[in-house]
Amino acid sequence: MSTVISVSGLQKSYGTNRAVAGVDLEIRQGEIFALLGPNGAGKTTTVEILEGFRHRDGGTVSVLGFDPATRGGAAQSWRDRIGIVLQSTHDAGDLTVLESVTHFAGYYTNPKNPREVLDLVGLSDKADSLGRTLSGGQRRRLDVALGIIGSPELIFLDEPTTGFDPEARRAFWGLIRKLRDEGATILLTTHYLDEAEALADRVAVINHGKIIEVSTPANLGGRATALATVSWREGGLLRTQETDSPTKFIAELSARFQGEIPELSAKRPSLEDIYLRMIGSEHE
Ligand code: ATP
Repeated sequence: MSTVISVSGLQKSYGTNRAVAGVDLEIRQGEIFALLGPNGAGKTTTVEILEGFRHRDGGTVSVLGFDPATRGGAAQSWRDRIGIVLQSTHDAGDLTVLESVTHFAGYYTNPKNPREVLDLVGLSDKADSLGRTLSGGQRRRLDVALGIIGSPELIFLDEPTTGFDPEARRAFWGLIRKLRDEGATILLTTHYLDEAEALADRVAVINHGKIIEVSTPANLGGRATALATVSWREGGLLRTQETDSPTKFIAELSARFQGEIPELSAKRPSLEDIYLRMIGSEHE
């Protein structure tokens, strides 16, 4: 599988603040890759360097075969292949939703159909509404529509579902998977660990400008082999037991109870549990 983004030893400081302190990343074609980290970790700085919006102080970067800082003289054709949803929303308040999307479509060589894109992001019924009359979540959907209108091969999504209601988030996840299935590569930053778990093929955790780990959501921080917590009710009390072999433990419990075990549950740590542990241990 080919590499779409390749970053090595990336550095960026603001004065004495080392916002990005030696980041290495390889993102492969066709994957959804999530960058996770607390506020101020260096996610936006990293992503904006990859998008060509910020200058780096050091390291090498290749995005779709070009250095975003120079683009090898191919700025327009490179931009054409990239879709961007920034953290801050676009200000197209005096255009209707359809006008905005149609206007943006004009910037690209091979745009999608504006009405189809509005349908994809669930804004068809707002096509004729002015941008400034949209709710926060609807405006965010318009941002997503503007980010994908150019049929991009690579899509950057910076906290795309902030302000979405739960139903809109699920619909958005479906959309992102669809774009991936059509061949797009997606780099996502998010503070929602359930979003990373639902969407990402791989995640990277970044803190203080450094990558702590890159893994699948299932394996991050040794999650797949982490102890399971089995809980059940016995003698009127809720009992819990941590174990590395929950199947065996539950079989023994089942034999002891001679059947159904009251209020039985067995849980491995969630991605959020593991993430908080990783970030927390960094502060110790
Ligand atoms: P968040 O989750 O809050 O969006 P982030 O991981 O995207 O955070 P960045 O925005 O990359 O973090 O910020 C990394 C560090 O760089 C922070 O300490 C921030 O204060 C600093 N920083 C970011 N942009 C600038 C800027 N334009 N000028 C000065 N410092 C900046």
